[in-house]
Amino acid sequence: MTPRDSLEKIIIVADHRAEASQHITSLLTSQGFSDVRKANSGEHIYELLRPLHDQPDKLGLIIINENLPQCRWLELCQNLAFGTDSTAVPCIVIGTPGTSSPQDMENALFCRLPDAFKPEELLLSVMFLLKLKHERFLRHKQEEQLINELAAKSIVDAKLKFLVAHDELTGLFNRSSFERQFRLVLNLSNKLQKTGALLFIDVDRFSLINELEGFEVGDRLLVELTLLIRKLAPPGSLFARIGADEFCLFLENKSQKQAIIFAESVKTTVENFRFFTGEVSYGATVSIGIAALDNAAPVQHPGEMILHARQACNFAKLGGRDKIRVYNSDDTAVRQRRNDIYWVPLIRKALRENDLLLMFQPVVQLTNGNISHYEVLLRMRGDNDQIIGPDKFIPAAERMGLIHAIDLWVVENAIEFLAALPSYMSYVSLAINLSGTAFQYPDLLQVIREKLELTWVDASRLTFEITETAAVDNFDLARSMISKIRSLGCKFALDDFGAGFCSFNYLKTFPVDYLKIDGQFIRNLVNDETDQILVKSMVDIAARLGKQTIAEFVETPGTALKLKEIGVNLGQGYAFGRPERNLLESQKIPLSILLNAPSDSHPDTVNSDSVKQYSKFQ
Ligand code: C2E
Ligand code: CA
Ligand code: CA
Repeated sequence: MTPRDSLEKIIIVADHRAEASQHITSLLTSQGFSDVRKANSGEHIYELLRPLHDQPDKLGLIIINENLPQCRWLELCQNLAFGTDSTAVPCIVIGTPGTSSPQDMENALFCRLPDAFKPEELLLSVMFLLKLKHERFLRHKQEEQLINELAAKSIVDAKLKFLVAHDELTGLFNRSSFERQFRLVLNLSNKLQKTGALLFIDVDRFSLINELEGFEVGDRLLVELTLLIRKLAPPGSLFARIGADEFCLFLENKSQKQAIIFAESVKTTVENFRFFTGEVSYGATVSIGIAALDNAAPVQHPGEMILHARQACNFAKLGGRDKIRVYNSDDTAVRQRRNDIYWVPLIRKALRENDLLLMFQPVVQLTNGNISHYEVLLRMRGDNDQIIGPDKFIPAAERMGLIHAIDLWVVENAIEFLAALPSYMSYVSLAINLSGTAFQYPDLLQVIREKLELTWVDASRLTFEITETAAVDNFDLARSMISKIRSLGCKFALDDFGAGFCSFNYLKTFPVDYLKIDGQFIRNLVNDETDQILVKSMVDIAARLGKQTIAEFVETPGTALKLKEIGVNLGQGYAFGRPERNLLESQKIPLSILLNAPSDSHPDTVNSDSVKQYSKFQ
């Protein structure tokens, strides 16, 4: 760099005292510096910096008075003068000697001068820092050139370099190179007060596909998901695979709102994607956490922002997976915590004072319209006889460790309910929902066994509905508990089938009697051909495995007929009956007309009750 080059660099003099500012400016211009700009506050410095973000080499350095208004000079210098990249901007701080200095001076383009500095001191510091900056710039250029040359010289070398920086499977950046690149982006964004958001994307229940189908299939799923997401991302986005099934994607110049819209599109695209291996098809979902840049509280380290996005992602997983959550240091966590704390005493009181109640919804055989059994659905009695649905209090009970007490309450009360029915209703059987953690407590088996013995209720009158969560999170434990409860004579249904991971292979080894096809496939079944194909494949495979299928959310007669045509065994939904306090409400529905079949035209294969029999006892 020639002295002339130095003199053309922009120097920002940030001193609110007019006289001092003028003094420094005159010193510099008298030495030939041609572009000296004045700032009288911290904010003003950023205003001057902003238009220069594209041309960092035009900017020479900044001279700051320690007492400049609206300026945390230590932070400002840390942002600008630290770091080893070529975009660092030197800072000279003028103030009382001995006051604080940045901690880590190594590599910093930084120096301090006393209030009463000598003119030569200032000029020497300016020239020295400008030279240092220039040298750094040159070094960076040379490095770049070297890399290019190397790449050109030998493709093998280039490949090697690529492999060191990238994930071999997906070709994305790996964790360490992502952090390196991200540090640069963060530095610049902080300096220029840019917007941006980091997405942490985690494939839900990925380990399961690895276990069931092998690593090769798992790898293929990751590659396909990478391609899907890459297609949606703005070109040139920083995208990395930072863990087995974890991805980070930084969206530059995007606000939090825009990041959420983008995350929604990723979530929906993945939801709609189906992954085929042989005759088996999988659905995949992702949980996404978002951490947006906040200019009021800039993040200094890439690790910090990755952690925030990861925390938000964990929150999304806790919220039931297939969700998007935005990191907010207090907001969501506090709100959920407050909600949980609100419910805890109410749940305890309801358990103590029997303010919980059971409702019953019929499950109907589609061949003949007979009622097979009833699903037990829990409610809480609120103030003024208000009835509160389970979606309000069960999630809080799960998080606060009260769900097991609820599960036991429901099991005991459902069995007592059966025991209290008159003997002519001994054909009635019930399906009871168990929570995802039900199998973590060994006393469940004991409670069921003791209650059945005590009441003389036949175990075959009970079916337990579990979701994949219960099974997936602790496969072996769940399998052994289910086998023990089944050996008592009870049956099992896998609830919400298809909503989560939907693995047929996993089903093969799982000891359940019924598959309850999730309502999302049923609601629009009549008009949606894809749903019809999916339901058909679930039915085929269930039949091959010797299991019966139940469709939930059967809301119209048309849906019921379609399900019957596809070969689904049983149906449940508003078309047949809503959850009622009184079992016998349900028989008012003219099922035989609804299903276009006389109620006595088919043998009853699941249970012995029928609408006809049923109404006899009214
Ligand atoms: P789930 O087991 O999937 O229960 C089906 C839910 O769908 C019920 O809501 C039921 O009222 C509703 N439903 C039934 N037919 C239709 C229909 O045709 N259309 C529509 N839109 N909805 C229909 P509910 O009773 O609010 O229960 C919600 C969830 O709460 C249940 O989902 C289950 O996961 C949980 N739950 C309910 N009772 C218990 C319980 O005793 N113990 C535990 N651990 N969880 C329970
Ligand atoms: Ca259920
Ligand atoms: Ca369900």
